[in-house]
Amino acid sequence: MEQLAIFGGRPVRESRISYGRQCIEQDDVDAVVATLTSDYLTCGPKIEELEQKLCEITGAKYAVAVSNGTAALHIAAMAAGFSQGEEVIVSSITFAASSNCVLYCGAHPVFADINPETYNIDPASIRKLITSRTKGIIAVDFTGQATELDEIRAICKEHDLILIEDAAHAIGTKYKGQPVGSIADMTCFSFHPVKTVTGGEGGAVTTNDEQLYRRLMRLRSHGITRHQEEMVHPSDAGWYNEQVELGYNYRMTDFQAALLISQLSKLQKFSARRKEIVEKYNEAFSAMPEIAVQKEIPESDTTRHLYILRLNPELLTCSRREFFDALCAENIYPQVHYLPVYYHSYYEKLGYQKGICPNAEKYYEEVMSIPLYYSLTNEEAEDVICAVKKIVEYYRKK
Ligand SMILES: *Cc1c(COP(=O)(O)O)cnc(C)c1O
Repeated sequence: MEQLAIFGGRPVRESRISYGRQCIEQDDVDAVVATLTSDYLTCGPKIEELEQKLCEITGAKYAVAVSNGTAALHIAAMAAGFSQGEEVIVSSITFAASSNCVLYCGAHPVFADINPETYNIDPASIRKLITSRTKGIIAVDFTGQATELDEIRAICKEHDLILIEDAAHAIGTKYKGQPVGSIADMTCFSFHPVKTVTGGEGGAVTTNDEQLYRRLMRLRSHGITRHQEEMVHPSDAGWYNEQVELGYNYRMTDFQAALLISQLSKLQKFSARRKEIVEKYNEAFSAMPEIAVQKEIPESDTTRHLYILRLNPELLTCSRREFFDALCAENIYPQVHYLPVYYHSYYEKLGYQKGICPNAEKYYEEVMSIPLYYSLTNEEAEDVICAVKKIVEYYRKK
């Protein structure tokens, strides 16, 4: 058996690769540079062009571009009206921003468990958590796979709840043929560099509801409006605008928008390549009983953001920690997505206790995300498979 690099053996690769990285090409650079010397650096035409493009891609009526995905979630949670004394049900396996936005509004996040095979929020767990104080649901399209939207929307309809879809992982994904972004009451996107398309930083909210759209537009910029029908003291004076509520400066720059427009024009090729790599990994790992492959639901045509390598602890002698460190030594740097949100010490201080979402907690002990990005070559993907095999063989239970 080959010696693992962590014990002094030769690593599978000479140079490091990690779980994600952006792809910026010359035309992306040109688009940014052209915008830098244009008349507008912010609040200019590139923002509207980007919002138009997001509407085309998602099929939503309205899109609001903002400074990042967390800002998108914050103004969506505000527009939903979440406030003190109310509960919002949130996926337990997600980035903390998905539930922090509930806290920003003074409301109380309630964590739902995941489906142990798809890793998305489990509608049965949502049902158990609904009380008279429940106001909404924030469901995450984890790894890019659409969450079970039909069932979750049915729950929302039954209990008069607002659905915010956190699609930070899922630009380009379709649910039953319909693009993510036009299905929930509001859908939030992130364009951080590890996501499928990037603006450096960036985010957006899409919606089909005009009232929500108007509110989102105001909240993005201080709560100030130029629309007379939204004013308490309407005036048609050329200079007049009015702050009608407390908002923020969550604006995106025009050069970020230019980068995103350029990136979004490549969404299909980005998506297709990610699917190819996922298939390659699925094929290799489904042949290894020590590794569990994420279940794909037929309703989701998925642009995959993350590839989750899940260990079967019953068949391996190593811990997740040992596997993770061994993979790093082979020069493949994974990451873990995610800590159950309520494990964070801040949430612990708020009174959340371990044990509330058993599937999420078990999931967390067994996973790591391995390299998945557009520019990952077939050779690099083979190296990843080879390293995983090497480590599995070393730690296989006899
Ligand atoms: C990345 C991410 C966010 C936050 O987006 P930022 O653009 O980094 O603020 C929110 N939710 C999920 C699930 C994410 O992956």
